[in-house]
Amino acid sequence: MSLIKCSACSKPVSSRAIKCPYCGEPTFPSVEPAQFTKKQISEWGWISLGLIILGMYLLDLSLEHGNMFYVLGMLVGASGVLGLMCWAFMGLSYLTGQ
Ligand SMILES: [Zn+2]
Repeated sequence: MSLIKCSACSKPVSSRAIKCPYCGEPTFPSVEPAQFTKKQISEWGWISLGLIILGMYLLDLSLEHGNMFYVLGMLVGASGVLGLMCWAFMGLSYLTGQ
């Protein structure tokens, strides 16, 4: 069991308590479950970057092995770009959520 700070009155409240015993404020908003951790954000960035590199590699393979690799490379690369866009959004929400 640990103590967290009440988001309304800043008094110490048990992390198991549903409401602050002093002012009745629900305790869960101070836990901030929607926030991503720095580790999650950096992992997401590396995975997206990896997908883009893999996509470029597949596009390169398509020169020798045909259109199947081209389509695959485009799909993988596009999901990597999409991932990077989400990553930028996650990073931004992390910075502004402090
Ligand atoms: Zn309180």
